[in-house]
Amino acid sequence: MKQNLFVYNTLTRKKEEFKPLNAPHVGMYVCGPTVYSDVHMGNCRTYISFDLIFRYLQHLGYKVRYVRNVTDAGHLEGDADEGEDKITKKAKLEKLEPMEVVQQYTVGFREVMKTFNTLPPSIEPTATGHIIEQIEMVKGILDKGLAYEVDGSVYFDVEKYNNSQDYGVLSGRNLEDMLNNTRTLGGQDEKHGKLDFALWIKAKPEHLMKWPSPWSVGFPGWHLECSAMSHKYLGDQFDIHGGGLDLVPTHHTNEIAQNMACCGKNPARYWVHTNMLTVNGQKMSKSLGNSFLPHELFSGNNHILSKGYSPMMVRFFMLQAHYRSTLDFGNEAMEASEKGFKRLMNALSLLDGLKTNSSTEVEIQPLIDRCYEAMNDDFNSPVLIAELFEASRIINSVHDNKLKIDSKNLELLKNMMHTFVFDVLGLKDEQTENDDLPKIMDFIVDLRNEAKVNKDYATSDKIRNGLQQIGFQLKDGKEGTTWSKA
Ligand code: AMP
Ligand code: ZN
Repeated sequence: MKQNLFVYNTLTRKKEEFKPLNAPHVGMYVCGPTVYSDVHMGNCRTYISFDLIFRYLQHLGYKVRYVRNVTDAGHLEGDADEGEDKITKKAKLEKLEPMEVVQQYTVGFREVMKTFNTLPPSIEPTATGHIIEQIEMVKGILDKGLAYEVDGSVYFDVEKYNNSQDYGVLSGRNLEDMLNNTRTLGGQDEKHGKLDFALWIKAKPEHLMKWPSPWSVGFPGWHLECSAMSHKYLGDQFDIHGGGLDLVPTHHTNEIAQNMACCGKNPARYWVHTNMLTVNGQKMSKSLGNSFLPHELFSGNNHILSKGYSPMMVRFFMLQAHYRSTLDFGNEAMEASEKGFKRLMNALSLLDGLKTNSSTEVEIQPLIDRCYEAMNDDFNSPVLIAELFEASRIINSVHDNKLKIDSKNLELLKNMMHTFVFDVLGLKDEQTENDDLPKIMDFIVDLRNEAKVNKDYATSDKIRNGLQQIGFQLKDGKEGTTWSKA
């Protein structure tokens, strides 16, 4: 392990040395998307930030079990216990089965995540796949006397819980404060207290997704799935729990209360929160109507943008801000970032052709140490990128014969650039990728031609159909076979 990693913990409001419960194993849970619409760039920022954290922990040698759920039931419109289920509403609107909505947006989410080169989590559990675990958790909380049933619905008793525990431990707010600043919402008359929240909700007849339980045919409260699934896959207590900062006051506060009530432990030792992507200083959100979809950004097809940006460029733009700072989305900032990204990729392309000298005028080890220092300081990617720009300057100077480097230092430099740019920041050189594609496609077309000459039509059809399935069209003409991407 390279030096010691420090992580900002929302729970203690300070940076703390990262000491996993069970090194080299690390358990990390991140709240996933509610799959009722396309993920916007704000959501993407949060998942790219946790991808950076996942990658760096793995780079340090930790064996990370990264659990990121998919919310496919239970998340109501108002983010509280009122309104319709977001997925059901969409399903009715589009005359689809709720599970068709779920499938469409889960697949879309995974595609977007892949485009941004984020690594898949170790487990992606769904709320609907864990109804039994959630019911068991409700029973556990009822057994402890910290929840009550009213007409088929079950609510968490916040004030009673707060008698022995600190309900506001994560947000740093006290109960009085919260009680005074919470408005009473409609549909809450069943609740004993203003802050109480639903663990199980009795379904109205028109509700589409519902399950039998000891209390009613209904569905779980939104906060419950994360408590139940993190507990199932990571145990009573694990290392990191993450999500966007907007989840602190309610969703994560309630998750802690549920796990404490049921299992006696705060589920995570380090609570890590990403800050918001903003547009003109305002949080990007679907309900405010200021959200950008990834494909609008790639194509430039949005009134705020003057042109499109490539996925890796967007990832780089995101990583140029620290995950705990807000990041404002705009043309100028994107353009400045694009220049930097090109500079970095250009330096990388020069690396292999650099000539070495018997002596060196530059030492790379201190630069490598500074890269680790940056990442060990709460995953400080902007400082890391500044060090990588310094490395790019060195590469350009050696390339222009203005600086001498020996083979040992060049080896260190190559290693450092590959490690931090590709493995840790998770960037890809889109240029070389595109350069390689025609060569690969020509090779496949040759293979197919060979099969046809040998009258092995089964193979030649398999190649054509297989390519078609992943979006490539082959066309046989007089001049031979040509290919195109749909
Ligand atoms: P949701 O699908 O609304 O539950 O959100 C999924 C994740 O995206 C949560 O962790 C949110 O905190 C996060 N998120 C939502 N809006 C933004 C934003 N504007 N910037 C960064 N993260 C966001
Ligand atoms: Zn959650």
